[in-house]
Amino acid sequence: MTAVVPPGSAVGVLGSGQLGRMFALAARRLGYRVHTFSPESDTPTGQVADVEITASYDDLDAVRKFAKGVGVVTFEFENVPAACVAAAQEFAPVRPNPEALRVSQHRLREKTYLQEKGFPVAAFRHVRSLEELQSALEALGAPAVLKTVGFGYDGKGQRVIRSAADAPAAFAALGGQEAVLESFVDFACELSVVAARSANGATAHWGAIENLHANHILDVSVSPAMTPGPGQAQQAVEIALDVLKTLDIVGVLCVEFFLTKKGRLLINELAPRPHNSGHLTLDASVTNQFEQQLRAVCGLPLGATDFFAPAAMANLLGDVWGGGEPVWARALAFPDVKLHLYGKAEARPGRKMGHLTALARTPVEARDLVLKARRALAPAP
Ligand code: AMP
Repeated sequence: MTAVVPPGSAVGVLGSGQLGRMFALAARRLGYRVHTFSPESDTPTGQVADVEITASYDDLDAVRKFAKGVGVVTFEFENVPAACVAAAQEFAPVRPNPEALRVSQHRLREKTYLQEKGFPVAAFRHVRSLEELQSALEALGAPAVLKTVGFGYDGKGQRVIRSAADAPAAFAALGGQEAVLESFVDFACELSVVAARSANGATAHWGAIENLHANHILDVSVSPAMTPGPGQAQQAVEIALDVLKTLDIVGVLCVEFFLTKKGRLLINELAPRPHNSGHLTLDASVTNQFEQQLRAVCGLPLGATDFFAPAAMANLLGDVWGGGEPVWARALAFPDVKLHLYGKAEARPGRKMGHLTALARTPVEARDLVLKARRALAPAP
């Protein structure tokens, strides 16, 4: 039996970005106190938390002190060092379990795990040298994608290899690091399923969400997904729930998929936490992904995930600030569009600063509306 951490208690979050911020806001609404731990200060999470601890993840005494002050520890990014998680666990349960973190923070481990458990992934090979890259390319064929094994997100640490002649430059560009080479997937669309699992094994999900990327960074998410047939969307959900159970997740997990042009679903990545593609649940669903994370890690029942309406989310990257602070009223002039800003002071290109969500009668209308609102913020020169 998992002990319930009831409203009124303190919950801890490792990491202090926008995911932690939206988790903290959900937690505060339910009367929890929130402690955040990261090496930075005045962070997106810290700004809305009760306690912001600024220390290195390697400062295990600080981690222990943090864990002593809360009823449960969760995290908002998967690259939390294992020693940090182990130190936290001495004083508070860490949910989802550290094994999910270990699997998802290393691409080779993740792909090998999924393959061994019978989940569909693109063909891949382990690459530790240029020679291994060349033989992997012979085995898989070009084009292929070379990805470093660690700390990869938003397309960082990856290169597309179009022919064998590209191999040396691609390997050098990734600093000769340990990597995986993966077959290039000619996909019809990219999908994600964000799902939650409670301590007693109950599950909830928001169906298949369709994701459009720009420069390898998520750009727009649409729910329900527009491209797959109902059978394919249902299959994605079933695979995601199966992953959740196999990894024994208590919390939220996002499974990202490619839907190939031949109609096959392949898992691209796992994130054992709320995901950017699930941000639209904040405005469009009875229970959003952050409240669901809170309920799950605190041992509470999960909430309903029905949608009020089809929805779309568009990220606001630092690039939108190109001409100075955007005139927010231009986006807010669309009454069915909601604005979320993460409290980040410096708007760098590619940095996730906020997002817009639109609700409409159909997913296509929601997508068009959210894009229109974003264009209104950054009118063409
Ligand atoms: P990742 O960091 O692995 O999620 O990759 C970021 C984005 O790069 C994905 O969402 C895809 O748009 C693209 N991408 C990654 N791997 C592949 C692949 N094997 N084939 C085609 N596109 C890919």
